[in-house]
Amino acid sequence: MTARDPTRERRPQFWQVAKRCCQIAATVDVAFFFLFHLLGSPILAWVNVASVTMYVVAYRALGKKQNGLAISLIWAEVIIHAGLGVVLIGWESGFHYYLLIFIPALFVTMQLQGAVVALAGLWSYYVALYLLMWFIEPLQPIAPGALLGVYLFNLSVVFALFSYLSFFYLTMVTTANRKLRRMATTDSLTGLFNRRHMTYLVEKELARFQRNGHPVAFLVLDIDHFKLINDQYGHELGDRVLEDVASIIKAQLRTQDLIARWGGEEFLAVLPDTGLQNAEASAERVREALLAHSWLAPDGEQIDITISAGVSEFRKSDDLNTAISRADHALYRSKERGRNRVELEVV
Ligand code: GH3
Ligand code: MG
Ligand code: MG
Repeated sequence: MTARDPTRERRPQFWQVAKRCCQIAATVDVAFFFLFHLLGSPILAWVNVASVTMYVVAYRALGKKQNGLAISLIWAEVIIHAGLGVVLIGWESGFHYYLLIFIPALFVTMQLQGAVVALAGLWSYYVALYLLMWFIEPLQPIAPGALLGVYLFNLSVVFALFSYLSFFYLTMVTTANRKLRRMATTDSLTGLFNRRHMTYLVEKELARFQRNGHPVAFLVLDIDHFKLINDQYGHELGDRVLEDVASIIKAQLRTQDLIARWGGEEFLAVLPDTGLQNAEASAERVREALLAHSWLAPDGEQIDITISAGVSEFRKSDDLNTAISRADHALYRSKERGRNRVELEVV
């Protein structure tokens, strides 16, 4: 299975927005069809019929994932429509504003180099239209009052589309950021903190300890004979056990306790404001909760899982490694003494 690239996940959302834009644009063009008939500009009215057709085809192409075709149609429609609107009823119609919507859209749909080239083309077209209208009169002018109405309408639609797109970009970036942050800080199997992020969080917790002296306890928890589970029942069931064990540990500890997947089948919990005895009680709670839980193998056989734990308490002279290594030694003792037990550091 190939891993998904999270930075590419904006694409499906983007195509949803493109579809929505097709719907909005087609609706606006239907309105324009009637409006320009009323305003005595039949050519522009019929241009809108062509536009609606192009948006309908583009919308259907998006539905069939023919995104290249859809984008080309949308591009062609906006460029031709904006050009015709300006040439027929004048620069003051505001039809050229629609071209500006492409500036952000270009960077989402294209590679940077292509976007820059397209941007240069768009700018040239925009300037050329403006210069053209310096030298010629509109071919099918409408009454000044009507022109003002068309201008205000176009301006409002462009405002609305820009707001919609900006909101979409913001949502897209925020969602992507949240996803990346989660991926960078948690273990994908269990959802617990990963080792790197846990180290960062614990360092902060220890700095607080150095300031206020409140006790901080460390629990190192290791599943017993986990290799056998994998060997006997397969890696997949092993993974499921790891997920469930993580949930059980989480359920037995408090919300302020920091819990990480520290190694393959080893977990580290850091308990703020907790002394050695209370930490031992917490570890016992986890051990007993696990004991009370059993898993079913594919053949219906019941699998019992146990955990061994080592507990230490942070001392003034400690750093993160020394505190963990004392909990680790306690864990080794639990293993030596038969597993499925909790041992305290040697004071
Ligand atoms: P002990 O009681 O001494 O801790 O024995 P153990 O078998 O649990 O310890 P050992 O270190 O020998 O084996 C750990 C096993 O955990 C080996 C490895 O394949 C398994 N493991 C590590 N990470 C994962 C994982 O993500 N998924 C699964 N299914 N197994 C894993
Ligand atoms: Mg183990
Ligand atoms: Mg281990």
